[in-house]
Amino acid sequence: MIREIHTDKVTDLVERLCIEANCHLTDDIYSCLKNCRATEQSPLGKDILNTLVENAQIARDETAPICQDTGMTVVFVTLGQEVHLTGGSLEEAINEGVRRGYEKGYLRKSVVRDPLDRVNTKDNTPAVIHYEIVPGDGLHITVAPKGFGSENMSGLRMLKPSQGLPGVKDFVIRTVSDAGANPCPPIIVGVGIGGTMEKSALLSKKALLRPVGERNPDPALAELEEELLQSINQLGIGPAGFGGTTTALAVNILTYATHIAGLPVAVNIGCHATRHSEGKL
Ligand code: SF4
Repeated sequence: MIREIHTDKVTDLVERLCIEANCHLTDDIYSCLKNCRATEQSPLGKDILNTLVENAQIARDETAPICQDTGMTVVFVTLGQEVHLTGGSLEEAINEGVRRGYEKGYLRKSVVRDPLDRVNTKDNTPAVIHYEIVPGDGLHITVAPKGFGSENMSGLRMLKPSQGLPGVKDFVIRTVSDAGANPCPPIIVGVGIGGTMEKSALLSKKALLRPVGERNPDPALAELEEELLQSINQLGIGPAGFGGTTTALAVNILTYATHIAGLPVAVNIGCHATRHSEGKL
């Protein structure tokens, strides 16, 4: 049975999600920032965590952006194969939602039309949109604005299979260590292992959507996440990079099948304002 969804509904949903994501830090990250104040060893680190919690609370209360960098708008669309979209282009509907959301929410417009001529589009479009077609008649949208302080410190390596798990660990730790204070710690570390070059990058970004505190269902990967989190928190970077024991709130790993000759690893760093909001039609 085919279900019709008008693209106007998509625009309305994306508009709402853009504002919600930018102003309302998700409960998992908010609680984690609060809880880390008790375990952070550095007094300055504790102060900074207090400020971050206060900032997130004000943003929630006043529907104001958590950070001045309201990001490039990344949109994940999961579309049921029994949905018939009416009313025009899905892509244009999503971009119209971004346009309206960023205007209505007083969110900074941070997108340039071309990476080389660098002219601001003045409406934060185009979004970066990832589509997934699944069975069923639902339409699920996640809006994840991505600040570039953290995006710029992300990385990808095509390791040799012989480098194995030690090579993966080394690359993740080195990427975070080299990033230092730049990605606005405490960070969330999304790791994608396997697939092809672009698949690992997408996995690492999707990994940032998993709630903090929720581990990979595979016990071996859950253990690796915990081990990497502990190693990262021993780097001493600390909140805002002023030193301390809270450099990362979580390491989230996603994996996929890969080629016999390769071991792609991508690390996407999310800052203390790792934002996303989701909705269904
Ligand atoms: S990295 Fe995050 S917290 Fe830092 S400026 Fe960018 S969006 Fe804001």
